[in-house]
Amino acid sequence: MLTSIKHKSVIVTGGSKGIGRGIAKVFAAQGAKVTLIARDEAALKKACSEMGDHVRYEIADVGDWEQMKKAVDSAANAQGGLDIMCANAGYFPQTKIVDMDVEEWDSVIGTNLRSSFLAVKASIPHFEKAGKGRVVLTSSITGAVTGFPGWSHYGASKAGQLGFLKTAAMELSRYNTTINAVIPGNIYTEGLQGLGQDYLDTMAASIPLKRLGAVEDIGNAALFFASDEAGYITGQQVIVDGGQILPESLEAMDEI
Ligand code: NAP
Repeated sequence: MLTSIKHKSVIVTGGSKGIGRGIAKVFAAQGAKVTLIARDEAALKKACSEMGDHVRYEIADVGDWEQMKKAVDSAANAQGGLDIMCANAGYFPQTKIVDMDVEEWDSVIGTNLRSSFLAVKASIPHFEKAGKGRVVLTSSITGAVTGFPGWSHYGASKAGQLGFLKTAAMELSRYNTTINAVIPGNIYTEGLQGLGQDYLDTMAASIPLKRLGAVEDIGNAALFFASDEAGYITGQQVIVDGGQILPESLEAMDEI
């Protein structure tokens, strides 16, 4: 049993949908005060209404410094400080290198990688004030461990988060703050559903545990990294993928 995080102040970027909503739900169910950050206000309102009145939202593009700073400061102000930043928002358009324009590359890196830096930068003054803090990044097996045609930019952004993590862990130690990453496999979200049923079926068949992940699977890993008990773990990563990266060949799955 982990020490309660009741009344802790949490921000979850991309908290209106998918994995972010799952992370927020897990923290909210433990009695934490949670602010969701995303762009679509209708989806934010809907997510808040599902989670209770200790969950609020801020509208911001996570790749924009001014918007992120304002949103993080406002959340900390409303929640009496900031204890935990879950930098989760991201997106994954699928385009092969030969067809990709420079704008799409920059947009994916800007949303998925720059946003990790901005979330941490905006949180530091609040962690410094509190004398402690926690950051949990959402990376991906794609790029960090595996490749997939069409996701060179996405994979680069997700592997880049892990490069950022290592130096950030050293710098954040000055503020008694840890930073770690959850590396999801294929998790059943709105974003993943957008890739089509064939993709979902193929992926589920390639996972030793024979199912796509649930958003709460990632939320529970984030909760552990945010706990008091994980206070001596920093700069680390945990893969939550039902064993997806383990098979050495297609045939290996037939042997299970
Ligand atoms: P999703 O269902 O599409 O949800 C994405 C969330 O991020 C939404 O709340 C979205 O809200 C927000 N968002 C996207 N771009 C944003 C921006 N520029 N500014 C603010 N908010 C933004 O996606 P998901 O599948 O949950 O993925 C979430 C994270 O998990 C991503 O970082 C992704 O790389 C990672 N991940 C997912 C999987 C998976 O299988 N699903 C696997 C590995 C890693 P708005 O659009 O309203 O802004």
